[in-house]
Parts: sequence; structure tokens; C-alpha cells
Amino acid sequence: MKNLKKLIIITGPSGVGKGTVVKEILNKDNDIWLSISATTRKPRVGEKEGKNYYFLSEERFKDMIDKKEFLEWAQFAGNYYGTLLSTVNEKIEKGLIVLLEIEVEGAKQIKEKFPEALSIFLLPPSNEELEKRIRNRGTENEEAINERLSRAKYEIASSYKFDFVLTNYDVDETVKGVFKIIKS
Ligand code: 5GP
Repeated sequence: MKNLKKLIIITGPSGVGKGTVVKEILNKDNDIWLSISATTRKPRVGEKEGKNYYFLSEERFKDMIDKKEFLEWAQFAGNYYGTLLSTVNEKIEKGLIVLLEIEVEGAKQIKEKFPEALSIFLLPPSNEELEKRIRNRGTENEEAINERLSRAKYEIASSYKFDFVLTNYDVDETVKGVFKIIKS
């Protein structure tokens, strides 16, 4: 893999607003390409194959792990999630900046393997606000909400391992902060 300075990782706990921030970044800059991950999670209402994720069976996902087809992968809330190595390589070779929106374990794996990749950790304004955001999203049942919240505490404790930490009080301000980091 070449030029890992062109790889930007946005990470942070579920519910912190990574998706909204990333959507705004993509709206503002056509030279940034978002990597579409593979997952074994079932599609949510409105999610589309190849747009939100590549939805795979666990068997297929594990086969791809064996064949080393992922740049990183992790288990999250009972499902597998992974970044496809081939497409990331292809986009970087085309000169695009590649953005990964991934959970914390996978982000740590990439930072360990490729320290030159740029990593940004998004923090929630408070634990209460994080819980409110996950509940308002209305996509998870109570068990999944609690699992995501307890994992969030553990994830936030490792925020210091990343290059930059931004508190996501306001999407516009956070997006400005991300661009400042990318352009610097
Ligand atoms: P969700 O199920 O809410 O779409 O995603 C759950 C978590 O998995 C989110 O924190 C999301 O950023 C993360 N995620 C999505 N794709 C990947 C991936 O390819 N690798 C890793 N490690 N995490 C991912």
C-alpha cells in the first residue's frame, strides 16, 4: 500500500455522530472517497447493498479474513465489520483521499500497522448526550443500546491513542475542525 498519508480514519463510539460528520465532509470535497465496509449485520430499513455496506454472511466474511482481504476488521455488537483492502488501495493509487468511518478497535489496528495514516477520534459532549443520540436514532433495541453504551466507555478511554481528538458539540464546527486537520 502506497501513500498512507492519504488515509484518514474517523473513529469514536457508536452514536457520537461519525456518520453525519462524514456525510458533510463528502458533500464539501469531491477528492475524498468514503470506503464502503463489509459487515455481517443485517441491513436496517432503507440501507442499500454497496451504498451503506456490503452485507455478507458470516461464512463469507470469515473466508475473506482467511484470505487477508481486509485492511482491518473487528467484531462489534455481535457482528463483523471490515475494510476492503483492494478498493482502498485502488482509490489511493488514483490519488484520492480515502476516508474510513470505523469503530475504535479497527482504527487502532490500522494505526499500529500504518502510523502515517491520519486518525481523528470524535468524542461526545457527555455520556448522557451519547445515550440520548443512540436512543433518538431508534435503530437499536434495549440490549443493543446497552451493549453500545458500555463499549463506548471503554472506547473513550483509548481516545489518547489517536492523532487528533475532537468533541462533537456541533456538526458544522466538527467538520471545520476535520478540514483544518486534513489541510494542515
Ligand atoms: P453500525 O452497525 O451502527 O452501522 O456500525 C457499528 C460500528 O461499526 C460503527 O462504530 C461503525 O463506525 C463501525 N464500522 C463500520 N464499518 C467498519 C469497518 O469496516 N471496520 C470497523 N472496524 N468498524 C466499522
